[in-house]
Amino acid sequence: MIASPVVAFPAPDPVLAVEFLRGERETAPLCAAARRLRDEGKGRVVTYSPKVFLPLTTLCRDRCAYCTFAAPPGAGGRYLEPEEALAIARAGAAAACTEALITSGDRPEDRWPEARAFLARHGCASTVEYTARVARAVVEATTLFPHANPGVVSAAEVAALRPWCASMGLMLENASPRLMERGMPHHGCPDKDPARRLAALRAMAAQRVPVTTGVLVGIGETPEELADSLFSLASLAAATGAVQEVIVQNFRAKPGTPMGGAAEPTPQYLARVVAVARWVLGPEMNLQVPPNLTERFEVYLEAGVNDWGGVSPLTPDWVNPEAPWPHLDELRHRTEAAGFRLVPRLPVYPEFLRAEWLDPALSRRLRASADEQGYALGPQQGGMGL
Ligand code: SF4
Repeated sequence: MIASPVVAFPAPDPVLAVEFLRGERETAPLCAAARRLRDEGKGRVVTYSPKVFLPLTTLCRDRCAYCTFAAPPGAGGRYLEPEEALAIARAGAAAACTEALITSGDRPEDRWPEARAFLARHGCASTVEYTARVARAVVEATTLFPHANPGVVSAAEVAALRPWCASMGLMLENASPRLMERGMPHHGCPDKDPARRLAALRAMAAQRVPVTTGVLVGIGETPEELADSLFSLASLAAATGAVQEVIVQNFRAKPGTPMGGAAEPTPQYLARVVAVARWVLGPEMNLQVPPNLTERFEVYLEAGVNDWGGVSPLTPDWVNPEAPWPHLDELRHRTEAAGFRLVPRLPVYPEFLRAEWLDPALSRRLRASADEQGYALGPQQGGMGL
C-alpha cells in the first residue's frame, strides 16, 4: 500500500488558531492534520458511553442565559428522591448501560429555601453531600458507575464524591470572564467564573480523578476567547494528566430563554473548532462532540473526534431535551459507514483504568467491567481478569 504523503503542519499556536477560527486560513489542511492526529492517537475506533441521565436536581443558583435545565421551585425545579434516582439507575443497568450520569444545578441551597428544606429532610448539608449519597446508593444497588457533573466543587467535596464517582465532569465552557458581564450569558452566575471552574478542575485532578471538561461554542465568545479556552485546557491537561476527554459542544438556542433568538454555530464552523481543538490538544486526547446536537454529526469525524459521549437508550438529554440521542443502531451504522468501529466505553477511558486514578472501592469492579483494551464489556464477556 502506498502511504499518502504527510503534509507538514505547523505546531499549535494561539495566533494561528485564531486565524483558523476566523476562517482566514484554509480549513481543509487543518482538518486533514486533525484527522491524522486522531488516527495516530486513537486509530479508527470511535467510542460512546451507554448511560442513563439522572437529573439529580434541576434547581440552581445560577442564571445562564441559554439554560433550560434549571428551573425555579414550582416551575419544574426539584430534586430527585433517592428512590427515583435508583429506579432510573436500575432501568439503565437492565438495559446494559454502564454509566449513571448524575447532573445537578450549582448550589441551589444558596438561593432556594425549598432546596435547603429538601436537603434537611434528607439529612444533608449540601447538594454535593446528597450527590455523594445517591452515587453511593447507585454503586451499591446496581452495576452502573456514576459520573458526576457536580458543578464547582471544593477539594473536600471532591474527596467526598471520589469513592462513589468513577469520574467527574465540569465544562470550562469558556476561559473569558467577559462573558459574566452585564448583558452576557453568564451574568449573575457566580459558578461560571472561569477562575473558579479551573480551580475546581485542578482540585479534581489533584485527587487523581479522571476529568471531563470542554468548551461551549457560540455563546458570544470571540475567536480569541475560544482559542484561549482551548489552550487553557491543553495546559491543564499537560500539567495534571487528569483530563481524560474534552467536549466541543455547540450552543443551541432554546425558546423561552434570554438567548432563544441568538444565532447558533453552523456545523461547518463547529467542525473547524473541532479541528483546531484536535490540533491544540494533540493525538492522545479524547475529543467528543455530542451527536444529538447536529443532524449530520459525521462531519465531526472529518475534523478529528473519536468519541460521541454518553448516549442513552432510555433517558432524554436533560440539558437539550428537544434533541433526542440517535438510536444506537443508527449511531453504529453511520459511524461505520464513515469508516470507523463504534465501541462502547466505560465512563473512565481505557488509559485511566489504573489504580492511581480509581478509588479502591470502584477499581476492581471497573476493571472487571472492561475488556482487554479497556473498553466496556458486552453483557456476556469476561473482564480484564483482575
Ligand atoms: S449553572 Fe448549569 S444548571 Fe445552572 S443555570 Fe447555568 S447551565 Fe443551567
